[in-house]
Amino acid sequence: MHSLDFLEQYGFFPFRRAHGSLTKPHLSLRFREAEFHIDSSRGKKGYNIITHAHSDHYGKGNVRNRNAIASHETARILEELTGKKFAGNTFSIGDKLELDGIKVSTHETLHMHGSAAFLFRSESRILVTGDVKDYSSLPRCDVLICEATYGSPADIFNEEIHRVIEEANGSFYGVYPVGKAQRVGKLLNDNGIDFSAEERITRLCKLFGIEVAKEGDVHLTTTRKIYEYSGKKYILTAQRFYRLPRIVVSDHLDYKGLIEMVEHCKPEAVIFYHGKPTSKLLEDVRGMGVNVATLNQLERLTP
Ligand SMILES: [Zn+2]
Ligand SMILES: [Zn+2]
Repeated sequence: MHSLDFLEQYGFFPFRRAHGSLTKPHLSLRFREAEFHIDSSRGKKGYNIITHAHSDHYGKGNVRNRNAIASHETARILEELTGKKFAGNTFSIGDKLELDGIKVSTHETLHMHGSAAFLFRSESRILVTGDVKDYSSLPRCDVLICEATYGSPADIFNEEIHRVIEEANGSFYGVYPVGKAQRVGKLLNDNGIDFSAEERITRLCKLFGIEVAKEGDVHLTTTRKIYEYSGKKYILTAQRFYRLPRIVVSDHLDYKGLIEMVEHCKPEAVIFYHGKPTSKLLEDVRGMGVNVATLNQLERLTP
């Protein structure tokens, strides 16, 4: 195992919180005066930073947490999903915040409506990305803390946006209902294709002014419910584990994209905190002269 001594020079301490014999999801960052829990369940003290509204990033669990920080859009989606008022602090992506004396700027990742990356500035620049579709708005940093959903060289793909349009007529599309469904809905709207959708997808589309028809040329449903329908069916995904034919649409960077994000942000060190980084990814990033750590190498502390 590689030592993590290289992380000591940046003026912050990354750790995971122990919870009995379990470990809380993702990681926390401690600066001299401040503590931030990234995409994790509620902390006793410090702020909970919610990068976006997907359930594996723990927004729902923080919806009533006054110390939660999320973009306006993320808060609206969480309110729609939970029926509860978001109790934390919201910002517009691009805003500069100051949290317990630490300057934090916020940046677009285009993973879904409201998804944001956070740059913490103290003695050095620590960038936490959440999930990323497009790295071009991300700033340079010293330590990059990022996802690796497609962390294997087998995960290189091209999106098939044209097929989403071409195959629409008379089809059922199985999509992830939060995020991807709105991206696909907007794409269909922009191309003049009427679509109908499952109720939760409809509610989330309406939040962002995406029009859903009563009867459409194509019906958007979830990747689970699609099996209840008969007819022409596709799953819109880059994952390979579904039984139905797929059209490649992804809200993440592929393996090549992850490497390019590291090149773009020019960090000295990377911590992969979400997804499935393979040893090949770690090797490739080290080959760029960058130090690398993964979540399970971080120290586990009992708060
Ligand atoms: Zn996500
Ligand atoms: Zn994720």
